[in-house]
Amino acid sequence: MKRYALSAAVWVALLAPAALADTLELKDGRIIEDRKMTVKDDGILVHYVNGDLFIPKNLVGEHFAISESGEFTPRTDEEKEKFEKGFVPWKGKWIRKSKWERERKKRKEELAERAKKAKAGRKWINRLKEETANFTFEHTIPEETANEFIDLFEVYFKAFAKHWGVRRGKEPKLRVFFYHDRDYFMQRTNMPSGVLGYFKFFPLDEKELNVYNITNDREYTIDVIFHEVNHYLVNLIDPKFHYPPWVGEGLAEYYGCSKWDPKSKKLTTGHLQPGRLVIIKDEIERGERMSIADLIHMEQATGHHYTWGWALCHFLLETPKYAKKFKKFVLAMSKSRGFEKKDFHSGMLTVGPEETLKQLKKYLKVKSIDDLEKEWHAYVDKQLNVNTARGFENAARMAMRNGLLLRARRYYRKAVETGDASARAYYSYGQSLLYGKSDRKKAQEMFREAIKRAPLNAYAYMELGRLLRRDGKRKEGKRLMQLALEIEPDNESLWFRFEQDLDKS
Ligand SMILES: [Zn+2]
Repeated sequence: MKRYALSAAVWVALLAPAALADTLELKDGRIIEDRKMTVKDDGILVHYVNGDLFIPKNLVGEHFAISESGEFTPRTDEEKEKFEKGFVPWKGKWIRKSKWERERKKRKEELAERAKKAKAGRKWINRLKEETANFTFEHTIPEETANEFIDLFEVYFKAFAKHWGVRRGKEPKLRVFFYHDRDYFMQRTNMPSGVLGYFKFFPLDEKELNVYNITNDREYTIDVIFHEVNHYLVNLIDPKFHYPPWVGEGLAEYYGCSKWDPKSKKLTTGHLQPGRLVIIKDEIERGERMSIADLIHMEQATGHHYTWGWALCHFLLETPKYAKKFKKFVLAMSKSRGFEKKDFHSGMLTVGPEETLKQLKKYLKVKSIDDLEKEWHAYVDKQLNVNTARGFENAARMAMRNGLLLRARRYYRKAVETGDASARAYYSYGQSLLYGKSDRKKAQEMFREAIKRAPLNAYAYMELGRLLRRDGKRKEGKRLMQLALEIEPDNESLWFRFEQDLDKS
C-alpha cells in the first residue's frame, strides 16, 4: 500500500501545471511538451519541476517558444526589423504573422497528437499492425519511426533474395514483433537480459522474429534487425535444413552490418564488424588464433561463431576467387544430395563437421584446409583492421553479455579514451562499474558524461540519483530520480527502480 500512496504523491508533484508552455521536437523525433524553456545561444534549457535539462543545439529540431504574452519575441536587430514589418520566422523563412499563428497552432496540435499517440501505443493492446510484401508487423513504436525500419526489412529482404536466389514461395509472411525498448521486449518475450533479438524457426509454421528499438542507437538497432532477418532468409533456402552455426551466425553477422543508403537506395555489404574484430585481435594477441577445423567442429553456437565465423565468411565472400564458389557451397549444403546429411532435431537435417570440411575443400578447389587457413589468417591480419570507439563499445557489450565483466570494462574504457564514444557507451560503462568490485565514483562520472551527450536519457538520471543517495547525498539523489520520472512519466521500469530504492530507506 505504501508504495502506491507514494506514487500518487509524486504524481501530484509532477503534474503541477507549468505557467508557460513551450513545445520542442528533437531531431530524433522525441517531443517535449508543456515545459517552460529558455533559448540560449548554444541550445535550449528545459525547466522541469525537479531541475533544468540542457538540450544542445545539434539535437534540436523544432522549437515553438511562446513569450510572456503568448507571442514571438524578436531577439536580434535583424529579427526586430523584420518583426516590425509584420513578419515572423517559420521553418527558416519569414512569413506573415497571421499565417504564422495559424501554422504554429496547427503544428502544435499535430505534435501534441503525436505525443499522445506515442504514449498510448506503448501498450500492447494499442499496438500498431502493418503488413508489407513479405512481413507482418506488430509493434509499439511511434508510426513514423517504425516505418523507417519497416521499409528496411523489405529492402534487405529483396537485396538478399536476389543475391542468393531465394524466394518465399509458399512460406507465409514472417511475423515480426517489434518493441519500443529493451525492458518491454524482455517483459513480453521472457528472454534473459543480453538477448537483443531472436528468430524463432520452430515449429515450422509458427516462425517469428522479435526485436526492439535500442534507445539512442539507430545503427545498432538496424544491425540487430539485419542479423535476425538474415537467419530467416538463410532458413528460406531450405526451411527443413539447419545450417551449422559458423555458416548461420557467420552469414548473419556478415549481412548484419550491411548499410543502407537512403539517397542512392542501395544496400552495401561486406562492411567490418568492429566489435567482433576487436575481440578477434585480442584473442590473436593472447595466442588464441582459431583454426578452421576447430571452428567447424563446434556444433553448438558459441561466441566464436560470431567472431571467427564472421571473419571466415567475410574472407570467403570478399575474396573474388572464392566468393562464387563459397555461395555455391552454402546453397549445395542444404540442396545437394552429394552432401551427407544427419539429423538435427524434429525432422530437420544438418551436415556434420567432417563432411563440411571435405566438401568445403572440394567446392573451393583448394589443395588443403591448412592452405586455406593460412590464407584466411593472413587476410585477418592484413585486411581486417579497425580501432574505433564503436568497435570497442560493441566489443564491450558482447563481453558484458557473456559475463566477462573485467573485459567489458576494459573495452568501455578504451571506447571512452578515443574521445568519440556514444552516450550509450558512457551509460553502459557506468553500469558495468556497479557490478563486482564496484567503482561508484567513476560510475557517477560516466553517468554525468552520458547525460551531457544525451540529456533526455532518463535512465542515466535514475542511476546517478540512486548512486548519490547511497553516498549520503539523499536530497540531490531523490531530485534526480524524480527528474527521471518527469522525463519519462510512463516508464514502468523507471518507476519500479524508484520505488524499490525508496523502499530501502
Ligand atoms: Zn544469430
